Parts: sequence; structure tokens; C-alpha cells
Amino acid sequence: MILIGAGPSAVASARALVDSGRDFLWLEAGSETTLPLRDRLDATGAGPALTDLMVGSHPAFGSAEESPKLRAPALASLMAGYDADPVGDGESFRSVGLYGTGGLSNAWGTMVRSYSADDLGAGDGEWPDYEASYRSMADMIGISGPAGQDGDDPILRTLPGLMAPLPVDAPAGHVLGQRAPKTGAQLYRPYQAVLTAAHAGRPGCDRRLACLWGCDRGSAWSARFEVARLKQSPHADFRPHHRVVGIAKTPSGYTVRAEVDSGSIVSFETERVILAAGTIQSTALALDCAGHEGDVPLLTTPSFAAAYYVLPAFGRTARRSGYSMAQISWNEPGDAGGSGALYTTDGLPLSELAIHFPLSRRGSWRLGTLLAPAILVSNGFLPSEWSRNRAALSRNQRAPRLRIAGAHAADADARARQAQTALSRTLRSRHTYELPMSFKVGRPGTDIHYGGTLPRACARTAGLPLTTDGLGQLPGLSGLHVVDGSVLPRLTAHHPTLSMMANAHRIPRQLA
Ligand SMILES: Cc1cc2nc3c(=O)[nH]c(=O)nc-3n(C[C@H](O)[C@H](O)[C@H](O)COP(=O)(O)OP(=O)(O)OC[C@H]3O[C@@H](n4cnc5c(N)ncnc54)[C@H](O)[C@@H]3O)c2cc1C
Repeated sequence: MILIGAGPSAVASARALVDSGRDFLWLEAGSETTLPLRDRLDATGAGPALTDLMVGSHPAFGSAEESPKLRAPALASLMAGYDADPVGDGESFRSVGLYGTGGLSNAWGTMVRSYSADDLGAGDGEWPDYEASYRSMADMIGISGPAGQDGDDPILRTLPGLMAPLPVDAPAGHVLGQRAPKTGAQLYRPYQAVLTAAHAGRPGCDRRLACLWGCDRGSAWSARFEVARLKQSPHADFRPHHRVVGIAKTPSGYTVRAEVDSGSIVSFETERVILAAGTIQSTALALDCAGHEGDVPLLTTPSFAAAYYVLPAFGRTARRSGYSMAQISWNEPGDAGGSGALYTTDGLPLSELAIHFPLSRRGSWRLGTLLAPAILVSNGFLPSEWSRNRAALSRNQRAPRLRIAGAHAADADARARQAQTALSRTLRSRHTYELPMSFKVGRPGTDIHYGGTLPRACARTAGLPLTTDGLGQLPGLSGLHVVDGSVLPRLTAHHPTLSMMANAHRIPRQLA
């Protein structure tokens, strides 16, 4: 058995394989990830001063305007390897990837949610398997968030090991402390892959305000922490620096070809492959193996952002929570609604705030410094029904790639504005006002939630020419199991990674 990748999806599968005692060869394109900016944390552990991160003054902000996801300088250098050689390309689509243990979870915002059986295309009687995998993954990661009636996720709010959420900064506290209005968006404390107490050998958050720079302690989860543990198992033969460049069907199984750092190619024969290299990379490899000529849908969750001013927080001494991940999650009611998160600006690079102002760089920075303590920044996502990207194999390279034509539905911008307005209405009732002209819709791909290229066959995907069965297998490719976001039939407006992991854990459990 060969497992490909070392991001969240792959460690979910690795966990199931180790637990069931299956031996596997584990191939990962990159190296062991280390965070590049650790040396920038000063002796007290505080993150860099905001003034040190003026717009444009930091080399890592080269493309800060690209994504409404809140980013920190650490991310740019982590992603440089993929950016130099993207597997998915196309002028109208921003494809984001990260080679190395942990994959994109080294940069993620740690927001976790579950999907429903319908969203996952679960067949009759299958939901208990999905639910068991959700619970296993939540237990592996360690999740904090609201319990019982205070929470809005049916699985996560009942987790036995759910940890108390972190405290919030003053502006978020003001917004959460008010009575809920009858219309508009609903506000909750988020579910996060951030420890507030010691768990699985990792310590709870020490609130050093360094989250968006990468959490070396392990309080904010990355799949690289699981790789470090799982590769110790006698069942796992972990090989970093092995980038898979081809999978070919043979009479007895598959030949997997990988490029090692020297540029030479090594081949492995196996009866079964678990493909968890991230949606774009896995899709390129699977389409190549299947010899599929046509294009396929690539689902994303069109993203948008805006900034808010919390009037009662102006001029007050800010209460600092000491962490800079999302402080509030928001949802429009209903399955088709938008969803997202609100961040305070403490610990965020000022550039993340200033890019929302319609002023010059200098003017934006000055205004940002003045307003920062009373600002909330929101991001939001629409369900994948509003994405229209298409991806096709491009074979004119050494390794298979995808040529991606990125697009949103014609009414996606209007729908995003409507969702933002629902949030603004709720926040207005809490004396919190959207900053004029701060609303932005991200271009296709900048949400960095990719899926649905090889979706599970279900009512929702009926009529699509290329679907997978409940074990992630394409027709004619029995034993090649695609387990990551590629096989999700739909992306909801909520963050998808925990659902990718639950599925990637479920499939090898079924095989065992
Ligand atoms: C800034 C940012 C914020 C985000 N915030 C959130 C959030 O709050 N919540 C959420 O749910 N999601 C979030 N995401 C998305 C989340 O990171 C991804 O959904 C998740 O990492 C996907 O996991 P994966 O294992 O499928 O793929 P990846 O994380 O992309 O991992 C792929 C792995 O496969 C390896 N690989 C790739 N190609 C090959 C190959 N050819 N051969 C061998 N190995 C290969 C890579 O090196 C890597 O180890 C965020 C992403 C970013 C960048």
C-alpha cells in the first residue's frame, strides 16, 4: 500500500492505517516543514511590532492583496516552492499549494466545522462511519469552541474532549455581548483547532500573539505534528523528498513513479494507492492515470471580505486576548447562506487591515494605526454552487498538471454582497459599522478551499461524467483511492478541512 502526501488528508489516512496495523510506504514531495520566521519572535515571545510590518515594507507581502484570508509574512516563504512550480495554473485562477509535511495546514486559520450526510453524499446507513471518523479526527487534533446550546455544530458541540474557547479581544467581546437581533447573520464563538489545555503531548495556547506567524508550540494544529508522530510507527515507511510524478495501472495494481531531489525517478509497485496530495495535485495525477481527456469541475467557495468599526471600542484601552485567530464565526441562516469569521487586528500585520482602505499606502497605514484597536475584519465564503471553475489535464510537462479556467457564477458578487449585508445588519444592531468601500470579493482560487473534481457519485453529482465510488475509486481504477477534497460532492460555506480529513480517515478504515 502506498500513501501519497503529508497534509491533513494524508495524516487522516495514515492514522487509520497505523491504527488498523496496515504497513504502508508514505511518499511526500517536500521536506520536514520548519517555520521560517521563528527567529523574528523576540525574547519575550511577542510577535513583531505592527509598525515593523508597514504595507509594502516586508518582502513577504509581495502579493498581500491576493487573498481575503488573513495572512502573515511566514506564509509567503513556505509557499514559495509551490509558487515557483504550480501544479494548477491559469490566469483566471490563483492556485495555492505548499510542499512539505503538514501541507497547507502550516498556514491555515484552524477553523473547523462538520458537514451533513447530504453534503458528503453519504449513502444509506453510512453516516455512523462518517461521524465516527469526525470524532476520531477531532480527538486527534484537539478542538476548542462552544459546547452544548452555545455552539452551532451538531458534532463538535457534543465532543467529550471539547476545550473551552479562548477569551476574546475587547471589540469582539462588545459584539458578542449584545442581544441577538431577529434578522441578519448569526454570531457564534468559532470551533478551532487550537488547544486551550494540554492535549496529545502538545501544550495549550500561551497567548503570545504569534498565531498567524505559525505556532511552533503545537497549540495551533498542523498536520506536520501528526507526521512527526505517525512516521515513528513500525507500519509507516515515510519518505520525504519523493514527489509522485505518475501513477500507472498494471495487471496486478499500480506503478507509482516519484522524483527524488536529485531529479532521478524511482518506481514502486503496489496493489493499492491512497492519493491524498491535495485536490489540485491529486486530480492531476488521477486524471493522468485514468487517461481522461475532458475537463472537470473544480469547486471553490467564492470569498469576500470587509472591515468594521466597533464604535464603543474607540478610544478604550484594548483588552488583549493574546491570540490572533478568528474570534467570532458568522453564518447566514440556511444551507445556501454565506459564512465566515471576524478577526480583531491585534497580532495581524497592519497591511492586512490597510489593504481594505481606498487610500494611498501611506494614507491607509496612518488611518489603520489610528483605527486598529476598534476594527474587526470579516471574511466570508459562499457555498460551491457559486463557483464555476473548470480544470483539465495538461500533459506537456514532466509531471501531470491542471490547466484551470477560474470563474464565479454571474450572480456570485451580488450574492456575496447580500451575505455581507446580512452580517452588517446584525453588527449595526451592536453599534458596529461597515467601513465604506472596504467590501471586496476575492478572485477565483483565493479562498484556498478546493474540492469536487472527482466527486463521490450521489444524487447531487448525478449526470457528471466522472465520479468516484464511496471508496474514492474512479471507474476502471479499482485500488486507486482518492481521499482528499477532490471527492467531496459539494463545499459548504463552512471551512472544509475537517470534512476532508473525516472522509480520508473513513476510506482506509472501510478498506481495513
Ligand atoms: C491561509 C490559509 C488559511 C486556511 N484556513 C483554513 C481554515 O481555517 N479552515 C479550513 O478548514 N481550511 C483552511 N485552509 C485550507 C486548508 O489548509 C486545506 O483545505 C487543507 O490543507 C487541505 O489538506 P490536504 O491534505 O488535502 O492538502 P494539502 O494541505 O495541500 O497537502 C498536500 C500534501 O501533499 C503533498 N504533495 C503534493 N503533491 C505531491 C506529490 N506529487 N507527491 C507527493 N506529495 C505531494 C504536499 O507536499 C502536502 O504535504 C486554509 C488554507 C490557507 C492557505
